[in-house]
Amino acid sequence: MIETNLLQVQKRIQEACRRAGRNPAEVTLIAVSKTQPLSKLMEAYEAGVRDFGENKVQEILAKAPAMPEDARFHMIGHLQRNKVRPTLKHAGLIHAVDSVRLAEQIQADAKRGQLCVDILLEVNVAGEESKYGFAPDEIPDAVQQISRFPNTRICGLMTIAPFVENSEENRPIFRNLQQLSVDIKGKNIDNVSMGVLSMGMTGDFEVAIEEGATMIRVGTGIFGTR
Ligand SMILES: *Cc1c(COP(=O)(O)O)cnc(C)c1O
Repeated sequence: MIETNLLQVQKRIQEACRRAGRNPAEVTLIAVSKTQPLSKLMEAYEAGVRDFGENKVQEILAKAPAMPEDARFHMIGHLQRNKVRPTLKHAGLIHAVDSVRLAEQIQADAKRGQLCVDILLEVNVAGEESKYGFAPDEIPDAVQQISRFPNTRICGLMTIAPFVENSEENRPIFRNLQQLSVDIKGKNIDNVSMGVLSMGMTGDFEVAIEEGATMIRVGTGIFGTR
């Protein structure tokens, strides 16, 4: 079941890449395994998945140590400052940094643990009240401030697009995030790279890939409905 779903998703990634004239190797598929038991993660692992996305620190702490060494965990959910320290041990990339205060906490805990932590800044492109993230016009200033943190490295941007019936409706959202990333890159800020664009989920990842996504986060499409 998971293997079949995965093959389908991979085929759709390849087709979207072909339409966009992109190399599929540029797109990392993150299997969003939140709420799924370890047995399902192992099934995905056996089918070739190495990148897993979780949105709760508790789940990462329970699952990461039980998985093979080369499984990578991405923290894709809202992170509270008091949960940063345990997260750093197990999450390779923190996708949803949504305030300078959170980045400060990551810096402090990273320094204490003598780590360098890769992060993405979450952008609330659509300006949805219910969502976390920086407003697009807050990003340049936030990037400048966070770029000075020696143990924290900004690797790109992330967004959670609105839930829509027709994925085309999210194309302008993805395009805006990509443009913002190009703008920041053009500033050539030390300690900041814009190599990662984390955008696109089960319902809209093809459009996201066409607009430049380098990481897509797919849960339902791989594991079925939660
Ligand atoms: C749950 C979740 C996903 C995956 O959603 P699906 O629609 O199941 O693919 C992606 N990103 C984030 C941040 C999530 O919380």
